[in-house]
Amino acid sequence: MRPVVAEPPSASGSPVAAEDHTALLSAQGADAVLWQATSAEAHRLYQQAYELARIRLAENLLQPDKRPPAVIVDIDETVLDNSPYQVNAVRQGRTFDQAEWKVWTDKATAKASPGAVEFLRYADQQGCDIFYITNRDIRERASTLKNLNDLGFPDADEAHLLLMEGTSDKTERRAYVSRDYQVVLLVGDQLRDFDERFKDRSVNYGKDLVDAMADTLSRYFILLPNPMYGTYRDALQGKGTDAEKYARMRAWFEQQNR
Ligand SMILES: [Mg+2]
Repeated sequence: MRPVVAEPPSASGSPVAAEDHTALLSAQGADAVLWQATSAEAHRLYQQAYELARIRLAENLLQPDKRPPAVIVDIDETVLDNSPYQVNAVRQGRTFDQAEWKVWTDKATAKASPGAVEFLRYADQQGCDIFYITNRDIRERASTLKNLNDLGFPDADEAHLLLMEGTSDKTERRAYVSRDYQVVLLVGDQLRDFDERFKDRSVNYGKDLVDAMADTLSRYFILLPNPMYGTYRDALQGKGTDAEKYARMRAWFEQQNR
């Protein structure tokens, strides 16, 4: 049987070049990127999630609170579709690169995720402030606001855009919003967009924590599909070079052979 994850090409027996591991890791993500970029299923899942978001929003707005209501959304793969960047990375055999990423976001041409504009306009009409909490860099502020405004997203201004300043942990930024607003719903493509505890995948890949928090998640969080990148993959690949990440991925598949 052929290995699930291919051996790095090393016909001469010499050490595999670093770029070969990058190309292998990149190619490994091709199916995920294809699915996100082309599948009608992904398209429909986004619509479906935003349909559920309307229902939850209406329910949660019935809770009395002195503070005005707010909805918190993530940006990437939540309200904006960056699959063109990912397609390009696979085409070029590259993994994530911050400089290349900024070239993409500078264009401000990402399309809206299916259902996102319609849902957030609805939330805006219901009297909610919309806060965009993203791990885009502060240098991406102007291009991000342009992209959101061009697509007609509500509250796309400096006061409602909380970018990453130092830490990818969004806990403080969520707390900042909660001081003055009743947060009635959160939307994201990562469980970390709801609670930082989901960064830890050491116990049953984080699935036990999902089950333990099922009621809260069901009521306050709308999760969108994104197989292209994220905590699930970072937890398996770990930090380091692409060669190290590739080795850990390969090790995981090997461990399943029992
Ligand atoms: Mg995201």
